[in-house]
Amino acid sequence: MKASRKDSHRKSIFDETMEAFYRAAELIKLNPRVRLELEEPDFEHIFYITIETRDRLVPLAPEDEAHFKDLPASSSPAAEALEPLANGQFVLHRRALLKADITLREGVLRIPKRGLFRIEKGGPKKFKAYRIQYNQVRGPYKGGVRYHKDVSLDLFKALAADMTWKTAIADIPFGGAKGGVRIDPQAYSKEELERVTLRFIYKLKNLIGPFVDIPAPDVNTNPELMAIMMRQYTDGARTPHAMRGVVTGKDVRIGGSEGRAKATGQGTVYCLEEWARWRGVPLAGARVLVQGFGNVGSATAEILHGMGAKIVAVHDAFGCIHDENGLDIPALLAHAYNDPGNFRRTVAGFAAAKPISPAEFWELDADIAVPAALGGEITGPVAEKIKVKVVAEAANGPTTAEGNAVLRARKIDLIPDIICNAGGVTVSYYEWLQNLRMEHWTETEVNGRLERAIKSNYAIIRDVALDKPQKTAEHDSRPFAVGRETDMRTAAMVLALKRIEAHYLLEGFSQ
Ligand code: NAD
Repeated sequence: MKASRKDSHRKSIFDETMEAFYRAAELIKLNPRVRLELEEPDFEHIFYITIETRDRLVPLAPEDEAHFKDLPASSSPAAEALEPLANGQFVLHRRALLKADITLREGVLRIPKRGLFRIEKGGPKKFKAYRIQYNQVRGPYKGGVRYHKDVSLDLFKALAADMTWKTAIADIPFGGAKGGVRIDPQAYSKEELERVTLRFIYKLKNLIGPFVDIPAPDVNTNPELMAIMMRQYTDGARTPHAMRGVVTGKDVRIGGSEGRAKATGQGTVYCLEEWARWRGVPLAGARVLVQGFGNVGSATAEILHGMGAKIVAVHDAFGCIHDENGLDIPALLAHAYNDPGNFRRTVAGFAAAKPISPAEFWELDADIAVPAALGGEITGPVAEKIKVKVVAEAANGPTTAEGNAVLRARKIDLIPDIICNAGGVTVSYYEWLQNLRMEHWTETEVNGRLERAIKSNYAIIRDVALDKPQKTAEHDSRPFAVGRETDMRTAAMVLALKRIEAHYLLEGFSQ
């Protein structure tokens, strides 16, 4: 263990995530040179991107409203040219001014039914961008692209390291990477986010590729942005069709895989099925808390609901809702995703449920908690009051080191993120394979492969944790046993490190 890490005043996110690495490395007496190779990323790319933003209408501060109380309302026949943003502002497209009747005073105007707004001039805006390429001994770097206002080098290093362990656990021939842009997506229009994406990939063009580094969606990125990334990367190439595997998570109509959209949630459910089988409890009727109702949280909720589980509460960035008898998930999906007025895609405002506070959410009586939002949510105090039997970490790093220790002390089972959410990257690998082979597999084929992959690797991790090595028709945990019991997170790291170490020990180190 590095002395400086242990002594540092406040641990970084990266240091916290690496604790499991050091625990597992000690346990298996990881080769010192391999440890050195894995302690830090291969590359840390940090760069800036600039885009032109449009003019905006920013809601006037309440204390300034009196000054404009007699300002007449303005009107425009092209009302749709005011594009609402999730932060309450509007993007002002030029066509809104055509044939409009506008009264402007000191840069302020009144919009009927919406109130007073100040016009803010658009112009060039600069954003910090990252791509961390952690390790590639097992295959091309692989990892998501996140757009969020709180991202940092520290966070991306942690997430890129996690991808390295995850691809090894999933036993797919990829390494680990992560990246993204420090931006608040709620403050920008779709068009502006597309421009950010184009600039991001333009700058990364020489650093990524189907056999170099393969981005995928993560928080606030989606199949539409993946399509733009693919186009930007392949634009002007002689054989663009041979490069479709440069990004995964694409729409199925343009080379994406069936099953990819729900793959991470599906993988979480396969882990939970294995957990339930081992514990001898049914998933049908199980009471579930889901935090996050984006790609992962909504898919997990939908699949579990379809299996008869009761999703008793959902908590997203804008609200928490609760129904003691289980939420109507198809109706909640329609509320969050098919209601054009709900542009924040939030569960808040769902009429068929009771709003509750985030504090109440974690204290609800339930069997399963699925954190599927951001990292660091299950802190020590949350872990103290949570009442579930198992925490299935669908998000990356949702449990802090303190939270982890409390869960262990309280004997609450844990399905660690690096296996729990490995379904996404596993199907990304199937997508990449289909692109290379120019094939298109059915959802049944994809899910059949995914189920075998997740369940067999989950079984290996559980055997390592319980120190019960065995060979069955589906899995062989004997090469990974450490000769004593350990926790699930350490066991998952043992599996990852042994698979990675084999490459260095058999292939040697680069000179
Ligand atoms: P997403 O952007 O689609 O959804 C994120 C959800 O979290 C939204 O519902 C948002 O409202 C909610 N959220 C944000 N901040 C919150 C807060 N403070 N409290 C409560 N809820 C909050 O993102 P996603 O793709 O579903 O990813 C969710 C997590 O899963 C992330 O940790 C991501 O790294 C991880 N993950 C995603 C994939 C994938 O395939 N998308 C794969 C592996 C891991």
